[in-house]
Amino acid sequence: MSATSSFDSSLASHRDTTQPLRCLVTGGAGFIGSHLCKGLLDQGHDVTVIDNLSTGRRINLPEHHPCLRFIQSDLAAALPALGKGELFDEIYHLAAAVGVKLIIADPINSIETNITQTSAILRFAHERGGIPILIASSSEVYGKSTKVPFSEEDDVHYGSTTVTRWSYAMSKAVDEYLALAYHQQHALPVAIARFFNTVGPGQVGDYGMVLPRFVQQALNSEPIEVYGDGSQSRCFCDVRDIAAALPVLLRTKSAHGRVFNLGGQTPITIQELAQRIIYNVGSSSIIKHIPYTQAYAPGFEDLAIRRPDTSRVRSEINFSQRIGLDQTIADVAAWITAGKGPGVAQWNVKWDVKMEAQR
Ligand code: UDP
Repeated sequence: MSATSSFDSSLASHRDTTQPLRCLVTGGAGFIGSHLCKGLLDQGHDVTVIDNLSTGRRINLPEHHPCLRFIQSDLAAALPALGKGELFDEIYHLAAAVGVKLIIADPINSIETNITQTSAILRFAHERGGIPILIASSSEVYGKSTKVPFSEEDDVHYGSTTVTRWSYAMSKAVDEYLALAYHQQHALPVAIARFFNTVGPGQVGDYGMVLPRFVQQALNSEPIEVYGDGSQSRCFCDVRDIAAALPVLLRTKSAHGRVFNLGGQTPITIQELAQRIIYNVGSSSIIKHIPYTQAYAPGFEDLAIRRPDTSRVRSEINFSQRIGLDQTIADVAAWITAGKGPGVAQWNVKWDVKMEAQR
């Protein structure tokens, strides 16, 4: 049985959302973006997606929907082409180069994509009259800090610039600086969400994300490839919980000019994750340990513990994790078994999370 889920049109906010809003979603064909678009469309809003399909998939979005417009383009090229009369009520900026493997394979493109596109969309939001904008950031921003858990106001700690991995963290940090600067200098309504290990149907393992890779390996009865000794831990959160929180955050005035961790609460080691997936899927896979040097590149630094402090987002919008890890694993397995063909748009979920702005 698939998870019942959220995006309730009664989500409280500072604005009247009973009227359809005109939403611009960059990276809307991607993993998180497509769940967000589905929710916005289900709420009756008009959605314009700009996505260059570098990692996103068109099939993640409905092929034909009267309220959906899809523009396949790089963001910096698409924005100037949007006519001045074209109005948007809110923007969700999720277009980014994602996945550690992708960043290591193509660092120039990753750095440029993340910084130039965010710069372009923030300028656009400002020049079009101060459109509220949500900026997707990442737990990578904390770098290799060993503090547990990570809180939004913590110091960050990066490795040397000769270690490619940290370029992603730095680029997302620059995105955050830019967004906060627009808020400070131009009162642009900006909310920043730092995603922690978001998982669920629609996520492909091609760019290194652990959960879909393990589920795929388990389904194929192949060895589950655990990097290092598997003692590193993460807190996973289902994408449907994450996506449902984004409009609530953006529509909450007191969230503007602030950063929010968004993620799960329960840590699990990667070894335990592998065991749990083998058990849940009913697989005969064995666990194989792969040295980091073989999995990534020499000098790669993995994080031993990555855990978010989510007290801020919980108190601000009453965020909570509704879909547990076992349900997510089951849904990812069902999605993969269906042939990875059906995109998120066809993934039948009824979103049901109740989050509210507190003021
Ligand atoms: N990982 C793994 N096998 C894989 C992919 C990832 O053991 O096939 C490990 C990875 O080294 C990390 C954890 O799983 O310790 C989570 O990896 P992911 O890339 O999903 O997230 P992040 O490292 O960004 O938290």
